[in-house]
Amino acid sequence: MVPQWLIEKKRDGLALSETEIRDFMTGYTNETIPDYQMAAMAMAIYLKGMTPQETATLVDVMMHSGDLVDTSSLPIPKADKHSTGGIGDKVSLILAPLAACMGVAVPMISGRGLGITGGTLDKLEAIPGYRTDLSEPDFLKVLAQCGCSIIGQTARLAPADKKLYALRDVTATVPSIPLITASIMCKKLAEGIDSLVLDVKFGKGAFMKTIEDARTLAQSMVDVGSAMKKKVSAFLTDMNQPLGATAGNAVEVIESVKTLQGEGPEDLTQLTVALTVEMIALSFPDRSREALEQEAYRLLRNGQAYDKFKEMVQLQGGDTACLDDPSRFPGTALQAEIPAPSNGTIAAIDAEKIGRAVILLGGGRAKTDDRIDHAVGITGIAKVGTQVQQGEPLMRLLANDQARLDQAVRELAGVAHLQNDPVQAPTLIHERITP
Ligand code: URA
Repeated sequence: MVPQWLIEKKRDGLALSETEIRDFMTGYTNETIPDYQMAAMAMAIYLKGMTPQETATLVDVMMHSGDLVDTSSLPIPKADKHSTGGIGDKVSLILAPLAACMGVAVPMISGRGLGITGGTLDKLEAIPGYRTDLSEPDFLKVLAQCGCSIIGQTARLAPADKKLYALRDVTATVPSIPLITASIMCKKLAEGIDSLVLDVKFGKGAFMKTIEDARTLAQSMVDVGSAMKKKVSAFLTDMNQPLGATAGNAVEVIESVKTLQGEGPEDLTQLTVALTVEMIALSFPDRSREALEQEAYRLLRNGQAYDKFKEMVQLQGGDTACLDDPSRFPGTALQAEIPAPSNGTIAAIDAEKIGRAVILLGGGRAKTDDRIDHAVGITGIAKVGTQVQQGEPLMRLLANDQARLDQAVRELAGVAHLQNDPVQAPTLIHERITP
């Protein structure tokens, strides 16, 4: 195989054969193909796309570049959810224990913040002691004991993706539908799950800015999953305003705990319950969705989902006392509010600006090796449709550094668009995509 001939073929818009994709990606994983040739191939794929067949082969090769988690010893269905990333998206923290209470095992391998979006691992690491780096045997032990476990990607899981993702990040080839499909699906399918629900977000605070692009990505992932004999479906959800009322790390854990106790914001609760019901319905098609929804709300209200979350946190070394008493989380030295510029109804709240502000506060990464300050963040984020008076706070910033706080406040200039006429709260879940 001559790598540049395959790059040339893709550059000219031709489809690569299964053997060509396998040879190229195997060469990249075992370092006989250098980064510069992979970068050229990634750009050719970005520009010319891939057929569904090529994408499926890419997923398969990347998934088999490392170990597959063997969950076969667990006697119940294994299910998971993946979000393409958004601002204030803390659904995984609530959904994993809730779904575990409803009869599936959730072996969730999550990521860190990417671009302006926060990451589940960074949020969980705000809980003192919580370990996201469990070995596979320990991961399986936690899973067998409490039905859910959330950890980070191990070195042995889809190493081709780890390498390729870092390369895409610095070669402007991240937002490619076949490459995103391969990156997400190879990791999720290596987890040993039977079914998967995808939350594909679109809007200002998401990678996919339009619902059309989100639909194409969702269909691509659902089709690949189903070609690999998994039960997969996707929701297209709005990410123009943040999900819930917080963005950051510790502040999102605290909001997740409230939601697990049945007292969370409406949008976060609604989306979490809908995705959980979808996950359980894929695993147990005979169970009525209406009954599942009622069960999910009951488990949030009666404390069982919260107890399950605490069990998981404790098994992974985390301090559950601060979940019961959020004042035990490390505090911040500084605060500031963003006041409403006039009287009116909130017509838009810019999730992208809020994502950037969290990074400026130190709650996300500007470079991959930046350290995160888990305590900083934004709380009390006002929602679209709310009436406000001039000067009323639209959100509160928590910071530990005056210069960072000033920068974040500047970033948030014009974060809300107000109008005099009433505004309807936007639809959150737009479509359900099936194979
Ligand atoms: N998340 C991933 O894991 N990979 C992508 O390419 C994009 C989002």
